[in-house]
Amino acid sequence: MDVMKPNIYDPADHPEEWTPEMYRKLEQARDIIEEWWLPNRRQLDRLGGVLAMTEMSDVYYGMHKSIIDAGFYGRIIPKEYGGPGWSLYQCGLMSAEVTKIAFTKGMDDALAYGEPWCHILQHWTPDEDTKREYFKRTLEGGFCTIWATDPESGVDMGGMRGSAVLEGDTYVLNGPKWWMAMCSPGPVGLQWHLALMKTDTTKRTSGLSLFIVNDDADGIIRGREGDLTGARWGCARYELLLKDLRVHKKYLAAPEGKGLYAIVEGMNKHMGNQAFQAVGVSEAAIKQALDYTTTTIRWDHPLIEYQGVHFPIADMWVNAEAARAITAKANKLWDEGNEEAKQGKWSILAFKFAAPAAIDACRKAIELMGARAIEREEGWPLELMYRDAMVFQLYRTPNIDRKFLASYLVRRRL
Ligand SMILES: Cc1cc2nc3c(=O)[nH]c(=O)nc-3n(C[C@H](O)[C@H](O)[C@H](O)COP(=O)(O)OP(=O)(O)OC[C@H]3O[C@@H](n4cnc5c(N)ncnc54)[C@H](O)[C@@H]3O)c2cc1C
Repeated sequence: MDVMKPNIYDPADHPEEWTPEMYRKLEQARDIIEEWWLPNRRQLDRLGGVLAMTEMSDVYYGMHKSIIDAGFYGRIIPKEYGGPGWSLYQCGLMSAEVTKIAFTKGMDDALAYGEPWCHILQHWTPDEDTKREYFKRTLEGGFCTIWATDPESGVDMGGMRGSAVLEGDTYVLNGPKWWMAMCSPGPVGLQWHLALMKTDTTKRTSGLSLFIVNDDADGIIRGREGDLTGARWGCARYELLLKDLRVHKKYLAAPEGKGLYAIVEGMNKHMGNQAFQAVGVSEAAIKQALDYTTTTIRWDHPLIEYQGVHFPIADMWVNAEAARAITAKANKLWDEGNEEAKQGKWSILAFKFAAPAAIDACRKAIELMGARAIEREEGWPLELMYRDAMVFQLYRTPNIDRKFLASYLVRRRL
């Protein structure tokens, strides 16, 4: 055992899990992160959203182009649809490492492994040509975002008012959307979206349908851009108004009335991957804490020599190990086709542990690092990691996950 090497997961120690292709991709990802992201992260994060895209357009688009050219997009796409056919577990292992190297989930999101949309295309999209068209588009660099949240209903999607009315062979979409990510012109203009709208206003969740919408479609009115605390740079997040946006019925992403079920299933899969991003944050926080406390002298000794400093580090490691173990289980069960995994039981359980563990790890590392932890110019990335990790707590909302998990114990589907 190498006593100088911290006991944090290192892909080099796990050739049984990493194929030669995965090792190669990890090195490519490291090169992209080191060339484009690390030297520019302060400025990209400071500007955020559209400002980052416009004021630093060479960096922003250069980085996305290298990601697409290196073939990162759609790694989850099955071989029968022209993709590399990675398993969810393989994608997750990579996500944890990328998040660890880049200190942000945003960089892993930019590497676009392909969920939740590829699951929706493969298992829910009725039209075979449409399915193939959008798999191809993904592999060519077409990032997809989900346009679900409506300002009036929030997490209660069944209460949404935005509607889609069928006229002949075409649906006409009208209504507001909130928090819509990545809806500015994409790196190569291929971006597209899955828009959730009401096709039957007499029903709640079973009245919702899902439509494929290209980013350059007529009828997308972009409103105010959110200026966020965390997850600032990767993409803009807008308020949107869909106004007489026309979508041919062959671009239904799921059969009419099944839109929310398709999104939920796709997200159940994706949460396994998000939990791996959170594991990456925890392990990066441990590494930061170790780096700082071994190189900082106080009372003539490196901080790491004081026993009190060991306690929070041990707590962080316990949580990181537990998070990795439960996350690995969730992803492997999904890959094996386990029915409860498909319902989201294991991925949400893993995420519910890994996400707060990541935020807690950042908090503990911040405490160990003192004032430097929150000073942006100092070069330690912890405050960025902390702000970015907060989004883990928001975009599903912990209460809804708790409600769902409790239903397995109280035997009442909510
Ligand atoms: C950075 C970021 C990116 C996002 N990107 C997207 C995107 O790309 N696409 C998209 O569609 N959406 C996106 N969202 C929106 C996100 O999905 C919503 O924030 C989320 O669904 C919650 O909705 P809300 O914020 O309106 O909270 P609300 O619905 O107002 O809920 C507020 C609080 O009440 C709690 N609550 C609600 N109902 C109950 C209940 N029955 N019992 C107990 N507690 C309850 C919730 O847990 C939450 O804590 C994004 C959000 C963020 C922050």
